[in-house]
Amino acid sequence: MTSSVTVRVPAKVNVQLAVGGVRPDGFHDLANVFLAVGLYDEVTVTPADALRVTCSGPDAAQVPLDTSNLAARAALALAARHGRDAGVHIHIDKDIPVAGGMAGGSADGAGALLACDTLWGTGATREELLDICAELGSDVPFSLVGGAALGRGRGEILTPLTVGGTFHWVFAVADGGLSTPAVYAECDRLRAASGTGATSADVPDPEPSPALLDALRTGDADALAAAVTNDLQMAAVSLRPSLTATLDAGTGAGALAAMVSGSGPTTAFLVEDEAAARKVAAALQASGTCRAVRVTAGPVPGAVTLPAEGAT
Ligand code: ATP
Repeated sequence: MTSSVTVRVPAKVNVQLAVGGVRPDGFHDLANVFLAVGLYDEVTVTPADALRVTCSGPDAAQVPLDTSNLAARAALALAARHGRDAGVHIHIDKDIPVAGGMAGGSADGAGALLACDTLWGTGATREELLDICAELGSDVPFSLVGGAALGRGRGEILTPLTVGGTFHWVFAVADGGLSTPAVYAECDRLRAASGTGATSADVPDPEPSPALLDALRTGDADALAAAVTNDLQMAAVSLRPSLTATLDAGTGAGALAAMVSGSGPTTAFLVEDEAAARKVAAALQASGTCRAVRVTAGPVPGAVTLPAEGAT
C-alpha cells in the first residue's frame, strides 16, 4: 500500500498581466501569460485519521494551517467529489515566497490535489483535476500544468504556449506580503481616479501581446524584455512605494527588464544569462531594498509526483 506521496510544484511569473475592467461578479477579465519558474514547494500527503496541515520552510509561520489553506481545500474538494473521507496529513515544504505574487498557495492547491489523487487511487481525469483547480482559484490550473500558458477569463482558461528557450530570472523577495484582492482594488481605484473608469464597460478587453508571444516562441530574451507588461504594477507600487528602489537597483545592475511579479510585492528581473543573474542578484542583495534574492530560470514543468523514497 502507498504510505505517502510527494508532489513538487513550481512558482510562476506573469510575463504579461493585462487586466480588464471589474466584471459584475467582482472578477477582472485577464490576458495573463504565465511562465513556470524553478522555485518549488513540495507537498507530501500521508494517510491520517483526520485532515491536518503542517508546513516547514522560512515563511512557514505565515501559512494558514486550517481549512482556508488551499492544499486542505483541494483535498476536501477531491474527497467530496468521490464520496470518500478526507483523512490525510498534508505537509507543505514551502520554498515559494508567501503572498509574493508567485502563486505559492495555488501551487500547494494543485500539488495536494495531484498527491491525494495518487494516494487515494481516485483516478480523476486531467479534465476533472483542472475543473477542481479552477474552482479553487484562478492561478491553480496553471500550477498543475506549468510550462508557459495564456490564461483568459479570470486566468483559469488556459492555452499552452510554445517557448523556444530558457529565460533567466532574478527575484527580489520583499518584506511582508501584499493581498491580491487589495492590489486589484487599488488598480480599480487608480483607474477611476484617472477618469478612465474601472468597469468592464470602460476598460478595453485585455489581449495578449503578439510581440510577447513571438518572443517566447523564439526564446529571445531581449524581445521578451521589450514586451513584458504588468497592469497591476502601478497599484502594487502605489501600495508599496519602496518597490521603486528595488526595481531601480535591478535595472541599474543590468537587468533586461524589471517588473513587479503578479500582484507583488516580489519583483522579477529578466536577465541575459546565468552570469548576468549572479551580477544582478549580488547588486540587489547589496542594495538593502529586499529581504532575499532568488536566482532561477523557466519554463519548467508543472506539478510532478516525485519517486517514493527508497524507490530505484
Ligand atoms: P497569487 O500570485 O496567486 O496571487 P500569492 O503568491 O500572492 O498568490 P500566496 O502565497 O498564494 O500569495 O498567499 C496568499 C494568501 O493565501 C496568504 O496570505 C495565505 O493567507 C493564503 N494561503 C492559503 N493557502 C496557502 C498556502 N498553501 N500557502 C501560502 N498561503 C496560503
